[in-house]
Amino acid sequence: MKVLNIQRMSTEDGPGLRTTLFVKGCPLKCKWCHNPESIACESSIEWFFVRCMGCNTCFESCPTGALKQGQDGILWSEEKCTRCFKCEEVCPTGAIEVKGIDMSVDELFSELIKDKAFFGEDGGITLSGGEICIQYKEAAQLLEMLGTEEIHRALDTCGLCQWEHLNTLLPHTDLVLYDLKLYDLQEHIEWTGADNKLILENFEKLCHLREQGAKFELWVRTPIIPDATDSTENIKALAEVVRNRVDRWELCAFNNLCVDKYERLGSQWEFLDKPLMRESEMEFLLKIAESTGAKNVLYTGRTRMEE
Ligand code: SF4
Ligand code: SF4
Repeated sequence: MKVLNIQRMSTEDGPGLRTTLFVKGCPLKCKWCHNPESIACESSIEWFFVRCMGCNTCFESCPTGALKQGQDGILWSEEKCTRCFKCEEVCPTGAIEVKGIDMSVDELFSELIKDKAFFGEDGGITLSGGEICIQYKEAAQLLEMLGTEEIHRALDTCGLCQWEHLNTLLPHTDLVLYDLKLYDLQEHIEWTGADNKLILENFEKLCHLREQGAKFELWVRTPIIPDATDSTENIKALAEVVRNRVDRWELCAFNNLCVDKYERLGSQWEFLDKPLMRESEMEFLLKIAESTGAKNVLYTGRTRMEE
């Protein structure tokens, strides 16, 4: 599998204390994306300003001239890079990191179960993205192996995948974390780069399976992004879709913790100047959702002080 990161002691990717596997590759390009380094399927290079001592060893070792000195630091050319990873190898300070390494299912299984003792009754392992369904064959094997250890398994998906791929994973999944961002098709295209037809269809199929007795839990997550997903109309429309068919609907308040990631990738984040949501704004959206009959709704994330 093409792995971005293994995050231990995670508390935001399902119930309890969890280990989350993040993989590379996503079919969406949300303008607010908090993991921009996960979008490309290929490995990428990240440069950390604070660790760099300016020795130039990386440029001199790069066989293709994919690295050069920019005004604000080292610039990486995705097109020229052949992914030989010499730059990471030679950097004396760890200022260059490769994002996206290949690991076998067996290697991942051994890594992930190391934390089993910390999971307790509620915790477990979450497979997340990018989009995990892109690597559904390997993900299915991994989930099945984790099942033999009786570990709680969650799947975090954006829903933009072939139903057959998602369905392959469901027999080995205890909880599906499903993202519903925007109801309006045009707005979905504008903010995420793709339409939401398949996402909504797959959601209906998941609900249908549960009505037929499938045992997996279903949580919906909606990122509340200022001026993008936070309108009354959007929450009302999504509430009509979610209704009382899920175990939990989480409205996730916008945060700006990803700014430095964009800087490291040499781009500027479109939401740089947006403030955090106010508690009263999140309460308001929560009430809107509940007023349409949606059940088990809550909001999560940091909010800013009321003025
Ligand atoms: S991975 Fe290889 S080709 Fe790419 S920037 Fe580093 S040294 Fe250059
Ligand atoms: S090798 Fe490492 S420390 Fe030296 S210039 Fe390159 S990134 Fe900076």
